[in-house]
Amino acid sequence: MRVAILSRNSNLYSTRRLVEAGQQRGHTVDVIDTLHCYMDITTSQPTVRYMGKALPHYDAVIPRIGASITFYGTAVVRQFEMMGTFCLNESVAISRARDKLRSLQLLSRKGVGLPRTGFASKPDDVKDLIKNVGGAPLVIKLLEGTQGIGVVLADTNKAAESIIEAFMGLRANILVQEFIAEAGGADIRCFVVGGKVVAAMKRQGAEGEFRSNLHRGGSAQLTRLSKDERATAVNAAKIMGLNVCGVDILQSSRGPVVMEVNSSPGLEGIESATKKDVASMIFEFIEESAQPHKTRTKGKG
Ligand code: ADP
Ligand code: MG
Repeated sequence: MRVAILSRNSNLYSTRRLVEAGQQRGHTVDVIDTLHCYMDITTSQPTVRYMGKALPHYDAVIPRIGASITFYGTAVVRQFEMMGTFCLNESVAISRARDKLRSLQLLSRKGVGLPRTGFASKPDDVKDLIKNVGGAPLVIKLLEGTQGIGVVLADTNKAAESIIEAFMGLRANILVQEFIAEAGGADIRCFVVGGKVVAAMKRQGAEGEFRSNLHRGGSAQLTRLSKDERATAVNAAKIMGLNVCGVDILQSSRGPVVMEVNSSPGLEGIESATKKDVASMIFEFIEESAQPHKTRTKGKG
């Protein structure tokens, strides 16, 4: 097969591993810089152009769309969909996952366990917002944050109030969330491929840190999932309509709760913690699934 990886940087670990795994399995793999794709969206014969030429026919596209280019990136993926190319994750599902609020609303509608979460845009009644999610301790999150930056723990209602007001004053979009203290600064990353959890790791925050992000000094280890955790991850992926994703779960006293679903999960952490060849598993799934016009909207919303 001929496969394109949409990625801004061919030197990234995840991109390199996907190229390597695809080539090992006998495929031709091209890395295409998403932002350098351009297209005529009105023609009856949709194509994607790149470096002055129409791109060749691809049997499959692997979108690795970074958070900063979601808008343009999903438009490029959509163009491939219009050409009938199998896209590992479809554009609608990627957009859906990027919006934390929309994701939580969709998951909540389907009864997936979630931390109690509030959202507001105007500082009209911050006290009620805090009360509504159960009061301090609370986690306050910037909607656009990644790598743990913009995730703050407020120990008291007073602190929560000040932080929320400060963020609102900056016109930042925030989530206010119940703090799952019993998770003990750890979370579980479940890597889902084609409706199965193919690898899972437990990430533990550094001493005295409630955030488990590896970028914040956390460490990762292979973990065995409970039946409930596995089912939660698979269900979340299905609801989001993502063939490949990372589902982050907190172990709460009332069972697994989903924190976020990542549509371009990194391979480095999960492959080194679990010693599994996740890149090859992704290609196995592509080999089974890539047939012309197979990509379609699976979820709703
Ligand atoms: P980011 O997108 O920046 O990674 P997350 O929502 O994943 O933001 O939060 C970063 C980390 O903070 C998580 O990996 C988790 O360890 C911790 N965390 C986030 N939300 C909660 C919560 N509600 N209760 C307990 N810990 C949390
Ligand atoms: Mg996270």
